[in-house]
Amino acid sequence: MIGVSWGTATDVGRVRAVNEDALLAQPPVFLVADGMGGHAAGDVASAIVVEEFSTVMPDQVVTSGWILERFDRADLRIREGQGGGTTVAGVALIEQDGRPYWLIFNIGDSRVYHGQGGRIIQKSVDHSVVQELIESGDITSEGARFHPQRHVITRAVGLAAGPEPDFWLLPAAAGDRLMMCSDGLTSEIDDVEIARLAGGEAEPCTIAQNLVDAAVDAGGRDNVTVVVVDLGDTASVSGRHHAADPGSVDADERTQPRRPAPEAVIGS
Ligand code: MG
Repeated sequence: MIGVSWGTATDVGRVRAVNEDALLAQPPVFLVADGMGGHAAGDVASAIVVEEFSTVMPDQVVTSGWILERFDRADLRIREGQGGGTTVAGVALIEQDGRPYWLIFNIGDSRVYHGQGGRIIQKSVDHSVVQELIESGDITSEGARFHPQRHVITRAVGLAAGPEPDFWLLPAAAGDRLMMCSDGLTSEIDDVEIARLAGGEAEPCTIAQNLVDAAVDAGGRDNVTVVVVDLGDTASVSGRHHAADPGSVDADERTQPRRPAPEAVIGS
């Protein structure tokens, strides 16, 4: 895909024995997955997600329906296999009505950030107990990083039939930077430091490595994974794909923040 450049980095960290995170950087799809359940479960679960999404072809018309199919297939394979579960946070660069968009998708507490002009903003909304406490006003987002339930997520792939990702559709513009990360990054360094490191002018591979190194230096208590995607030129995106199916992305309904989940899931 012309006009798109990317870089990735991952590290087991300083405490865990196994890296249960996985990532995919295969245009037009980029994602991170944070497996949970221990060796031979969490690492397999995140790898299954990567495998399902790696079936994407370079000229694939990626829709929310295609993404949902990948989630359903991965979910079934995980539940019929070694168990465990995984978060998934990612983006697909798509075209709709002749214009390029980022189709952001998320399930769990890995994150997608969007940068433009050196400013970086979190776009995905965590499916976690602490996120619900933030929204109810019980804690602040900074307090969430140290909350005892900070690792309790409310949605994941592999734990129940019909995983429910959230979607956001964002117009793609030249100079865009998308950054995806597992919670091993966001639990170690705060948003100010993330914005400082992710907003730099270096190449995506350097940015990704700098972020991972910062999290490991800060303690590395979890696996940490970062994918950075830069869009240099939207003209090269437009016209390369057929228009996506009309209504394939319901920006009004599917982009709403998730419903509160009845039960919590320990992990990630
Ligand atoms: Mg994690």
